[in-house]
Amino acid sequence: MTQAAPKGFRLHIGIFGRRNVGKSSLLNALTRQQVSIVSDQAGTTTDPVEKPMELLPLGPVLFIDTAGIDDVGALGQMRIGKTRQVFDRTDIGLLVTDGIWGEFEEQIARELSARKIPLIAVFNKTDLAEPAPSILEQLQHRSIPFVRTAAASGLGIEPLREVLIRTVPAEFINQPVIAADLVGQGGLAVLVVPIDKEAPKGRLILPQVQTIRDLLDHNAMCIVTTENTLPEALEKLKTPPALVVTDSQAFAKVAEIVPAGVKMTGFSVLYSRLKGDLTTQMLGALAVDALRPHDRVLIAESCTHHPIGDDIGRVKIPKWLTRRVGGPLQFTTVQGHDFPEDLTPYKLVIHCGACMGNRREMLTRILRCQQAGVPITNYGLVIAYTLGLFERALEPFPETLAVYQNMLGELQKK
Ligand code: SF4
Repeated sequence: MTQAAPKGFRLHIGIFGRRNVGKSSLLNALTRQQVSIVSDQAGTTTDPVEKPMELLPLGPVLFIDTAGIDDVGALGQMRIGKTRQVFDRTDIGLLVTDGIWGEFEEQIARELSARKIPLIAVFNKTDLAEPAPSILEQLQHRSIPFVRTAAASGLGIEPLREVLIRTVPAEFINQPVIAADLVGQGGLAVLVVPIDKEAPKGRLILPQVQTIRDLLDHNAMCIVTTENTLPEALEKLKTPPALVVTDSQAFAKVAEIVPAGVKMTGFSVLYSRLKGDLTTQMLGALAVDALRPHDRVLIAESCTHHPIGDDIGRVKIPKWLTRRVGGPLQFTTVQGHDFPEDLTPYKLVIHCGACMGNRREMLTRILRCQQAGVPITNYGLVIAYTLGLFERALEPFPETLAVYQNMLGELQKK
């Protein structure tokens, strides 16, 4: 039985550096585990390898080993491919060198700095040669922390661990909550989980499991029901629940059942707040009104699950939107770390809840959409909007609801 923490909650540490600078032994020393870097062989040279690990006292982290991207040429070649995807999800960058600081290191440092990703320079193999003082001075001047290590003997590993801990972005220290703040300590949430043919056999899906765990972690309670047994579940409660959370596909039915005074929303709306930017993605849903037949819509999912039946991203949302627009739309679907370099052909990007991705990657995608002038929303928000349940689904989030209502007010004045 695996006890691994979900990838999306792990601190993502990108390890960059030329070949033979000792990245592998550095990883071994840092994690006190034997790991091997395998991407030296031809054919695998530019595929970053992910290694989930426990890094005490930080807890679960994910090292992204970019061993195959080890010179300016490879970096340049892959700039619009896998390398960019690594940068997209890196929370902290470790740049390992055996003393050389050239154009390759500069490019990595520039890319991280442009994305406001903290960088730690690691001068490894200092038992063989010390880095030039001029390089260290330069880094100091640029406020780039650096550590001297000799990974093979363990020298400098503790200082590196300490610098890593100091560099962890604040959001990892105060992990955001999923729903517990909306329910309150001792409060009760009702979670609506349809058991249809798309539901995986014998288990719940990650957003449902993580929401349950989040409520338990914060001394809140929940009951889990299908939409069919929801009326009975509500009847059995002595007082109304603090919150009802439903799979977005059951929004319409659940909204009919849940009394108007009880707050309700969808799992993917919760995940828009957790992983992305709820207000930006709320505004993105309004772009549905501007869609015209033949417009291009990008559907993006953070995992690579195999679609079955009436898949939400491939069948249901396209069907609802096509009906609403009154003509065919052109849908493109991407999965996992794939996300188009050029977003300008798209009129709208609709993202899943991104439970498998990390927050950094989702925020990068939102930023890239904003830079391209393309609205981005998410599954739950677009469904709530097209069903006329937008305000209901946003009610638990007063700040975002206020932005929407103000906008409506402005439009009515015109
Ligand atoms: S499609 Fe998105 S929300 Fe659904 S399981 Fe995959 S990553 Fe999670």
